[in-house]
Amino acid sequence: MQDLTIGDELWEYMRRVTLREPDILRRLREETARLPNSNLQISAEQGQFMALLMHLIGARRTIEIGVYTGYSALVVAQALPDDGRVIACDINEEWTAVGRRYWREAGVDRKIDLRIGRALSTLDELIASGQGNRFDFVFIDADKTNYANYYERALVLLRPGGLIAVDNVLWYGRVIDASFDDPDTRAIRVFNEQLKGDDRVWLSMLPVRDGLTLACKKL
Ligand code: SAM
Ligand code: CA
Repeated sequence: MQDLTIGDELWEYMRRVTLREPDILRRLREETARLPNSNLQISAEQGQFMALLMHLIGARRTIEIGVYTGYSALVVAQALPDDGRVIACDINEEWTAVGRRYWREAGVDRKIDLRIGRALSTLDELIASGQGNRFDFVFIDADKTNYANYYERALVLLRPGGLIAVDNVLWYGRVIDASFDDPDTRAIRVFNEQLKGDDRVWLSMLPVRDGLTLACKKL
C-alpha cells in the first residue's frame, strides 16, 4: 500500500496539533522570508524534528554545513545543553550576519562557532587537529556537488552512534525526473545510491519537506 498523501488540510492539521515554534525562530523565519532565497531555509516542522533528534541522541558537539540565515543552527543550539557547541560552516558573510543577530538575542551565540570559508577546508582542519570521533551530530545542507565529500568527513568526525542528517535528498522530485541532468541533481542521485550500500551506517530516508536522510555511524 502507498503512504498517505498529505494534502494542504492534513498538513495544516499536523502543524496545528504539533508545531511549537518559539517566537524568536518565527521572527527569524519571517525576516528570512523577505530575502530572495528564503526557500534555502528548513521549515519550522523540520526544525522541531531536528531539536527532538538532539535530545534523543544527547547531542553536545555538532557541526552544521550550510548556515544561511542561521535558522537550523539556532534550533540545534537551543536544543543543546549549556556546554554544547555548534561548529557552523558557511561561505557567506551577509546571510550569516542575520543569524548572528538572532543567536545573540536568543543567548546562544557562545554555543555557535561560525567558521566562514569553504566547509571542506573547515572539516579537513578539524580532522587534522585531532577532532575525529568527537562529534555527536552533523547536518549536511550546503552545495550539493560536495555532499559525498561532506559525508565522508562527517563519518570521520562523528563518534560511533553519532548521527548525520542530509537535507534535500529528494531535490524537489528531480532525482526521478529524467529531464534534469544538471550537476546538483546528478550528485544527489549518486550520493543516495551510494548510501544504500554503505554498511558503515544505519540508514533511513524520510519524506520530511524536500527529503531528509538520517545515517547513524555504527558502533
Ligand atoms: N541550513 C540552513 C537553514 O536551514 O537555515 C540553510 C543552508 S542553505 C540551503 C546552504 C548554505 O550553504 C548557503 O548559506 C551557502 O552560502 C552555503 N554554502 C554553499 N557552498 C558552500 C561551501 N563550499 N562551503 C560552505 N558553505 C557553503
Ligand atoms: Ca536545505
